[in-house]
Amino acid sequence: SANSALNLSQDDFLYHFGLSRTSVDLEKLFGDVKFVCCGGSPTRFEHYAKEFSKDSGLPVSENLSRSDRFVIYKTGPVLWINHGMGAPSLSIMMVETLKLIHYARATDVTFIRLGTSGGVGVNPGSVVVTSGPVNGELKEEHVQWIAGKKVIREARLDKRLQQDLLAMGEELSLPVVSGKTLCADDFYEGQMRLDGYFCDYSSSDKFAFLRELHEMGVRNIEMESTCFSSFTSRAGIPAAIVCVTLLNRMEGDQVTLTKEDYLDFETRPFKLVTAFIRQQLSI
Ligand code: URA
Repeated sequence: SANSALNLSQDDFLYHFGLSRTSVDLEKLFGDVKFVCCGGSPTRFEHYAKEFSKDSGLPVSENLSRSDRFVIYKTGPVLWINHGMGAPSLSIMMVETLKLIHYARATDVTFIRLGTSGGVGVNPGSVVVTSGPVNGELKEEHVQWIAGKKVIREARLDKRLQQDLLAMGEELSLPVVSGKTLCADDFYEGQMRLDGYFCDYSSSDKFAFLRELHEMGVRNIEMESTCFSSFTSRAGIPAAIVCVTLLNRMEGDQVTLTKEDYLDFETRPFKLVTAFIRQQLSI
C-alpha cells in the first residue's frame, strides 16, 4: 500500500511529469481516470491517444506533462502515458503515475502496457498477452536493490483481465497468443543477440537459450514486464501486458520491418486494448 508520508506532505512535485500537487487541481483533472495505457514511445502514445479520440468521440487533451521525459494525454477516463525503455525508466513513470492517481482520488483504475517485443517462436506481428513475466534469472519476480540489499517482489498480473483480453483478440481475429514474457535488462546481450557491439557467446548458445525460453512457455522478450507487474500488484491495481512481436528471434536479431508493416503491427495492441476498454466503459 501507499507510503503514509504522502498524506502528510503539503505539496509534492512529480518531477518527471513537471506537475505539482498544488499548481494544478489533480482531482479535477484526473479524478475520473479508469484506465492507464502505457508503453515506451512518446510519439506512439500521442498517436494512440489521438486515434482513440477519433474512434470514441472523446476529446483528447493537449500533452499534460510539463517535462520532456514523458508525455501524458487524456481522453475522458483513459490516460496515455509513455514510459521510455527498460525497468528503471518505467519505474519512475509508475511511481509518479501512482502518486498522481492517488492525489486525484481516482478509483477502480486498471493499468495496461501496450508494447513492442521480440517474439520467441511466434510469427512477427503476433500479439502476446502476458500470462506471467520472468526476470533475467527466469523467475516470476522483480528484483530491486534497496540499501545495498536485493529485495525480491512477486510479479503477478490479473488473470481475469488476461482472459478477457485474449477473448477480445480472438473476437477481432488478431493473431493473439498467451505466453510468458522475458523481461530483459538490455536489448543486446541480455536478449542473446549476436549483433551487439559485444558478444562473448556463440550462435548455438543463443539458440539453446531461446529454446529453453520457449520450452518454459516464454513467447516474447521486452524490458519492462516484471517491474510493471510488481508495481501494479503491490499497489493493488489490476494490470495486463499486451505486446506485438516485431520479429521472431528464432529467425534473426535485427528489426528490419518496413514502415507499413511497423505501422500495421503497432496498431494491433491498440485495436485489442481499445476494443476492450470501450466495451468496459460502454463507449
Ligand atoms: N523490444 C525488445 O526488448 N526486444 C525486441 O527484440 C524488440 C522490442
